[in-house]
Amino acid sequence: MKGVYLLHFQPGYKHARHYLGYADDIERRLQEHRSGQGARLTEVAIHAGCELLLVRIWPDRGRRFERKLKDRKNAPKLCPICAGLLEPSAP
Ligand SMILES: [Zn+2]
Repeated sequence: MKGVYLLHFQPGYKHARHYLGYADDIERRLQEHRSGQGARLTEVAIHAGCELLLVRIWPDRGRRFERKLKDRKNAPKLCPICAGLLEPSAP
């Protein structure tokens, strides 16, 4: 699936708890993140023992939308786990 996605780090890595990104193939990108590739932040988080949970997808949104969300700097409000809507253990 193509679109913008949000990863929640469980537990958080230092002050970072989320990664927001865009990918043509989110499932493949997630596997890259989980194997320690794809982005510096997810790489260090994985090596620190964090689990990367895919908590939200905006299908068919592009890089401009990704940029817009990043500029808002309110990932916790976008994240269903941090908003208390989803248990961290949920699949
Ligand atoms: Zn979160």
